[in-house]
Amino acid sequence: MGFTVVCRGARGSSPVSGLQFHRYGGATTCFEVALTDEHRLLIDAGTGALSIGAVSAPIRFSILLTHVHWDHTQALPFFAPLYDSRNRFDFYGHRPNGIGIEDALNTVMQPPYFPVSFRSAPSDKRFHHLDGRPLKIDGYSITYASLFHPQGVTGYRLEKEGAVLVVATDVEHGDAASDDALRDLAAGADVLIYDAQYHPEEWATTKKGWGHSTWEAAAELAKAAGAKRLLLTSHDPSRTDQEIDAICDLASQRFPNTQAVAEGMVVEVGEVSRR
Ligand SMILES: [Zn+2]
Repeated sequence: MGFTVVCRGARGSSPVSGLQFHRYGGATTCFEVALTDEHRLLIDAGTGALSIGAVSAPIRFSILLTHVHWDHTQALPFFAPLYDSRNRFDFYGHRPNGIGIEDALNTVMQPPYFPVSFRSAPSDKRFHHLDGRPLKIDGYSITYASLFHPQGVTGYRLEKEGAVLVVATDVEHGDAASDDALRDLAAGADVLIYDAQYHPEEWATTKKGWGHSTWEAAAELAKAAGAKRLLLTSHDPSRTDQEIDAICDLASQRFPNTQAVAEGMVVEVGEVSRR
């Protein structure tokens, strides 16, 4: 039996708005798996998380942070459930530059940059630093790998009853250890969501070291890992819908079962039973 992931934001680096972006959307990274009616799992809390809207308390959120760059945490100041003391938040992630997740979020969300501090938000907030051991969250087995990106990034693999989702955004290919770890993490995935912000020529000329990958590396990874379906994400903030279509076409020529993530897209991972 599989599960469903809701793609709430797929824009890399910065939120954007405009008619030229309306099909793929302008919100930054957030992928949601509803574990139960009372427990939702998010991979990242970019502005896409704001489309969750009002939820009735008490509710629990488990948030797997790939890293704490702004575009992956930017929903938090305006995320209403954070301000309800009946709600519980479990944050998971690595320690970027040796700094704990709690300290990092306290730093980016406090006056004078935002009128309310993260630490004063009244929900029950708990923090879990990844130590290499797999996570078990509400029937899902979660493994992960440290990958190549400025300040580091974590790629996640979620498994439930044989259905496998792998999310690897904000990763740059070309680092042997990272490439090997990601190929292992993505082995046999039903759905692989991977950073394809650049064309190979852009990456090779001006974007190397910026922490993002290409549609070509995405297709090669999907093939090497034996993934069943590839979804391209982390769309460049300047990339129009038509330009994303073109990237998707190019990747599809190498790996046919490819789409680009569009905001609001609901993706089935494995065989989802209908009751
Ligand atoms: Zn980043």
